[in-house]
Amino acid sequence: MALWPAWAAPLLNGAGFLLALGFRRNRAVLVLAVLTLAGLALVGAGSPDAGARGGDAARMFAPWLLLAAVALPERGLLARRNLALLLLLALAAWLTVGASDRLWPGLRAALPFGVLPWSAGAVAAGLTFAASLLCLLRWVVNGVPMEAGLGIVLGLAGIAMLPGMDVHDTSRALALAGACALLAMLYSSYRMAFIDALSGLPNRRALDETLARLSGDYAVAMVDVDHFKQFNDNHGHDAGDRVLRAVAGELRRERRARAFRYGGEEFCLLFAGARSRDAVRMCDQTRRGVEQMRVRIRSAPARRRAGQAIRRDEAVEAKVTVSIGVAVRDAQLRLATEVIKAADRALYQAKSRGRNRVVGG
Ligand code: GH3
Ligand code: MG
Ligand code: MG
Repeated sequence: MALWPAWAAPLLNGAGFLLALGFRRNRAVLVLAVLTLAGLALVGAGSPDAGARGGDAARMFAPWLLLAAVALPERGLLARRNLALLLLLALAAWLTVGASDRLWPGLRAALPFGVLPWSAGAVAAGLTFAASLLCLLRWVVNGVPMEAGLGIVLGLAGIAMLPGMDVHDTSRALALAGACALLAMLYSSYRMAFIDALSGLPNRRALDETLARLSGDYAVAMVDVDHFKQFNDNHGHDAGDRVLRAVAGELRRERRARAFRYGGEEFCLLFAGARSRDAVRMCDQTRRGVEQMRVRIRSAPARRRAGQAIRRDEAVEAKVTVSIGVAVRDAQLRLATEVIKAADRALYQAKSRGRNRVVGG
């Protein structure tokens, strides 16, 4: 086998494994540990005759380990279940390299699931596709992009196991899985750095970078939820989070501006170019949109008056309002920091004039 394609599978999956370890994506750590060792088994590392076993070993052990890795809930890497899985992985590696020639045929007949009438490749591919499907399902339900990445990686690993794939094809498909894992990790690190997890909006760092790149006219609108501390006190922090997501959704609806979560219950709208002149009017539409919004929450007051009977959480329709301060970049306000400060001052005025209003010029 040509050297590069053979080593590409363990190297790419190994690099993905290290990134996953760095980002503490424990499910990805386990999946990529299995794929790295499967790639190494194909190269025939560890023993001169292991290469002959490598293709079989990858199909025998990897699908079960992959399925277990994705079925386990995401826990600390050193959680007992994860350690057990890593131990099984080590055992599989040891059996591949060290099992006696008498033991190996028996193992090969029994794994991945000897009772089934299909070939080892078909069973291995089926189990790995099931693992892939589980990740994709989780992605659909929870919307976590990493799960989609793992779903694709495992789909490619499933293709690698298909019967009829020789050791070269298997290696190539596993290398592709590793490349996808690396991309998924890089995308995940980008999201961690620039996307706010609660609202899904770009965060303050993304705003700073966007402002640094922006030239010409623009307007910044600082949006702050009114009396939000009181809202949290009345309905609980979870209900507050729900409302913040709903406000973020309303801001995102304003297609003529880019919305950011500035921090806490503060958001920012950025109007670029000629739109900046119309920013106040557009912000007022957004303010009215939030005012009309009804968010279904389960109210769970944190503090109840002493002696009051504890009722079950009540489903209520919550309303909130926002105050908005707008500032436009001009000859007096040239720097982004100055524009943001001016928008903050306008926001302060909107608050002191009674809230639920837009102030700016
Ligand atoms: P004002 O109308 O003057 O803005 O009053 P306020 O109560 O909204 O302002 P204040 O700064 O006193 O309180 C902000 C509150 O926002 C306090 C904090 O608990 C809440 N908050 C900040 N971030 C989050 C979050 O991510 N989730 C939830 N639920 N609450 C948050
Ligand atoms: Mg605030
Ligand atoms: Mg507030």
